[in-house]
Parts: sequence; structure tokens; C-alpha cells
Amino acid sequence: MDHAYAKVFRGAAFTSKTPQEVDALKDCLFCLDADGVIQRILKPLDPDYGTTLAAYSGTDKFHELAEGQYFLPGFIDLHIHAPQWAQAGTVMDIPLHDWLDTYTFPLESKFSDLDFARKVYQDLVATLLANGTTTALYFATVHKEASFLLAQICADKGQRGLVGKVVMDDWEQNPAYYRDESTEAALADTESFIQLVQELNKTTKQGVYPVVTPRFIPSCTDEALAGLGELAKKYDTHIQSHCSESDWEHNYVHERMHKSDTFALHEMGLLQDKAVMAHAVFLSDADAELFAETGTAIAHCPISNVFFSNGVLPAARFTQKGIDIGLGTDISGGFSPSLFDNIRQAVIASRMLEEGVDPSLPASERGLPHSRISANEAFYYVTAGGGQSLSLPIGRLEKNYIWDVQVIDVNAPNAKLQIFEEAISMEDLLHKILFLSRPENIREVWVQGECVHKRL
Ligand SMILES: [Zn+2]
Repeated sequence: MDHAYAKVFRGAAFTSKTPQEVDALKDCLFCLDADGVIQRILKPLDPDYGTTLAAYSGTDKFHELAEGQYFLPGFIDLHIHAPQWAQAGTVMDIPLHDWLDTYTFPLESKFSDLDFARKVYQDLVATLLANGTTTALYFATVHKEASFLLAQICADKGQRGLVGKVVMDDWEQNPAYYRDESTEAALADTESFIQLVQELNKTTKQGVYPVVTPRFIPSCTDEALAGLGELAKKYDTHIQSHCSESDWEHNYVHERMHKSDTFALHEMGLLQDKAVMAHAVFLSDADAELFAETGTAIAHCPISNVFFSNGVLPAARFTQKGIDIGLGTDISGGFSPSLFDNIRQAVIASRMLEEGVDPSLPASERGLPHSRISANEAFYYVTAGGGQSLSLPIGRLEKNYIWDVQVIDVNAPNAKLQIFEEAISMEDLLHKILFLSRPENIREVWVQGECVHKRL
């Protein structure tokens, strides 16, 4: 019998098996090593269950859930603009291009002020943890120092942060008050940012990662895009950008590059296994195949898409094509910091795509058949799909995966999820949790085996 576990958790848990199937683990023991990695999951019928329980129960290494509490994998936010937290919930009624020029670029330019940046970023990271988000893939701003500050705040608060210093070097496309000074400066700042964060990662248990981040093709020169592709290769980093988000953006790239976003990004060395592209609503079949071939993932941002994308992502079709998909809040194109809200919207949007929305059309012409996704698929996207998109061992409760979890309490004070049928199936219970729970139901959040949030 192995007494060497650093921590043992006892309780029921949900984890995705496939995009369509969820595994409900009842009364299991989750045995962790000192790095916060799951070494063993013991079910009640396992011969070692009783002896392990007896060895750890009552010690300070043992954590047991109360009645009505469940482990869910921590959620993974695949697309979020950290500085835009300051304007979340406002200005949702103008087109993308105006929204950037009139509100968003002026706001992001203020992050040259580190005091302002600290205030916003500390609040955002704490808010995300309280909402069950254990890993986030962030766009920061063009400022190297403030971007590094965000990585430090993630490191301090215990969140797994993947952070990008944003590149916007095209002098014609970006306002004079908010852009990189030159292409050379953009690449040099990105390189030194990568080195700083990789150094910080060495002393950060849960990991912080630098991300090569061209904002999107419209704000970058060809030279910067190609240079960023080389940096990503040289330092083996993640990559993020926006791809075929809206009619305006999609058409702009076609006019300038005479090809789609996808093929242009690929030529610049920006599509690969650790690349995540936000939105990707307007991918052609050829684009989608290139995503699948290169292992590039889609950050599906279903709330933001309603306001800024002019369409609904055909997520079910892209999953069938073998593309990795995760969910993103896209603060502040999306207003909510909660991935629970984005699970709900992902399911709702897919139903509207399938059924159609114009009642004056006959039912047979109204929608796009076979577009719906189930609650199980949305759960998969926000957990296992996100982990796979980032090529990290997170998002599943399985051996050799990292212990990133949220503890959901259906009996939380002032937020009780009423269960009227005692014989409710575990799958129905999960769906109740996904559709009805509120931040009050998230009692604890753990990242890499460490408790990072507790709601008393
Ligand atoms: Zn975005």
C-alpha cells in the first residue's frame, strides 16, 4: 500500500469521456502527488479503497466532500481580453470596427499605467477563480510591462494563466496613441516578454505561459506576422489571434491577402497544435480542414458572437471534422466572466442555428440541420476540449491529469438547487448544475492541487 500521496480527495465527480458522453464517478478517492497530479482514482469496489481511506481519513491530507457537493473539472477560458474587464457589460450595440476605435483601443491604451492595470487585473483574476475558471488564455495589451504584470498576478493568485502581449504594429490601421512603435519593437518586446514569462514559470507551481499574440491580421504587417510565427517556433510557445470573426474582418483579410484568414495565418507559421484562434465563425470547408490538419483549435465565444460576429459558429459540424474546440468568454465582446453562462449560450445558439430564426420562412428552409450541441458537448468544450486545445493535461479527472477542480454545492446558502426527485440520474444532476448554478454554488476552487478560492 502506498502512503506517499500528498493529498487524497473523496467525493463524487463528473468528467467527460467523449464529446457526447460524461462519466459520473461516485464516492471515489482521488490520490494526488506533490505536484498536484492525479496518480490514482480508486472506486469503492477497488481492493485498495478501504486501506487507503483508513490511512488518510482524519489526516490533514484528506479532503472529503459534504452531502450535495460534487467535483467538476476547473473550467478553461480559451479567449479573454483582460484589460476589457474594465468595460464589461457596456457598449454592446455598435459594430466591431467602431467598438474597437471608439471604446476599446482608448481603454486598452490606459494600461501603460501599471497602477490602473494592477487594479483591473487583480479584480479580474479573482473574479474568474470565483467563477470556477482555473485556466485562462489572455490577451493583455501592447504594453510589455503591464502584460507581464498580468502573468505575475496569475502566478500569485494560483491561476494557470497563458498571457499574450498584443502585437499591433501597422501604422495605417492602428491609432497613433495605441500601437507598437515599430515592427522591430513589436518583435523585440514579444521576445523579451516570452523570456520573462518563461523565467517566471520556473517558480510557478501551476504554470504561466507566454503566448505569441498578433491581435488579428488587420492590425499587423506581414513582416510582424511572419516574425511572430518564427518566435513561436523558436521558443515553442502557444499562439492566439482572431480568425474570420465577422463579415468586416473576414472580408478585410480577403481584400488585403487575396485569401482567407486561415490560409494567411498558416503561411505566416501561425497555425499549429498550440494555436488557438478566436471565433472562426466564417471558416470555409478548406479552412476547417486546415484547422484539423494543423491541430489548431477554435475558441468558441457564443455570447460575444451574438453581438459582434454576424453569425453562429457551426460547432457541431466542426467537432465532427475533428477540430479541437473550447469555450471563451471574450470579455468584453461577451459581457459575462462566467463560463457557465457561455455553456448555456453555446447550447442555445446551436439550437437557434439548427431551427433558424426567421418565422416567415417555411420550417424546412429556416435553419441548418444537425447543428445542435448537447449540454454534454458544451461541458466537454469547457473542460476536456479546452485542455486538448492548449495541449495541456487539464480538463479531465483522470490519472496523470492535473487536479484543477471546482466544488459545486447544490445546497449552498441562498442558492439551493432544488432536487425534487430522489432518484435523479447523475446526468440529469450535472445538467441542472450546468444550467442553474450560480457563483454562490462554487464553494471551493483548486488549481494544481492547491486551494485558490473558498466561499464560506
Ligand atoms: Zn477577442
